[in-house]
Amino acid sequence: MLRLYTHPACLQHDTGPHHPESPARLAAVLRVLDRDHYAALDRVEAPRATRDQLLRVHDEAHVQRVLDTVPMGETQWLDDDTALSPGSAEAALRAAGAVVAAVDAVLSSGHVRRAFCAVRPPGHHATRSEAMGFCLFNNVAVGAAQAMVAHGLRRVAIADFDVHHGNGTQDIFWHEPRVLFASSHEMPLYPGSGNPDERGAGNILNRPMSAGDGSYLFRELWEGDLLPRIRAFRPQLVLVSAGFDAHQNDPLANLCLGSEDYAWITAKLVELANHHAEGRLVSTLEGGYDVAALASSAAAHVEALME
Ligand SMILES: [Zn+2]
Repeated sequence: MLRLYTHPACLQHDTGPHHPESPARLAAVLRVLDRDHYAALDRVEAPRATRDQLLRVHDEAHVQRVLDTVPMGETQWLDDDTALSPGSAEAALRAAGAVVAAVDAVLSSGHVRRAFCAVRPPGHHATRSEAMGFCLFNNVAVGAAQAMVAHGLRRVAIADFDVHHGNGTQDIFWHEPRVLFASSHEMPLYPGSGNPDERGAGNILNRPMSAGDGSYLFRELWEGDLLPRIRAFRPQLVLVSAGFDAHQNDPLANLCLGSEDYAWITAKLVELANHHAEGRLVSTLEGGYDVAALASSAAAHVEALME
């Protein structure tokens, strides 16, 4: 049974006209998941993350700034590309809260084994102390902390196949051996980090790809390197930072994946979770900026999660 967490508030984070991280992205994903084909999805409204849950991975000052900077009228900017509108705090709380609720659901003995969080703003660039790169709170990190603190897990794997390096997740778990962070991403590209020699406590696995790289290299890199290393870690829970901006049509990057590659990596991660983590897998939406490519890629991802 695949559970889908989302919330209408995630459509109310208004980044202004011409911003690639638009409400239209999530609307397109939800529209495709509304088809009969996805009727079996167990749809649940995302709760808000609590302040305490956020403070496990973010500084007090950062949480305060995001919640307090929320303007009553015009959009305000936290950096060159990270905007706050009146609906942003609620959206960010629901986005992080979705991952927390999903982690709770798959870790409590029930019928839910896997979950997908269709939320925005995305999270993997948000560091312990800063919002950046369209991200306010680090949703996947808040979920990993929930697994460790509330459920006592000792081994949580995060697989991040967004085309951008998940610098925020790396920053937050740099000294945290209970979390294995495995990322494929394009370099050089925003945010600039993600070299293989950035290893944290030995728990950070960065595998850069180059502009023009596509399916073959992506699959070789996961199949031959990252997946075996995640298996060796024997995770009790698999989290996924599911960004779909390595798609060949994405306007913000230069890799050449197709939706079938997202079906492939998802099936591999499901298989890994089934073998090592009692099937427990929680995926959350990160990037993906060509709306049609995002919708077809997310649909392929969800379909593979349902199988
Ligand atoms: Zn991205």
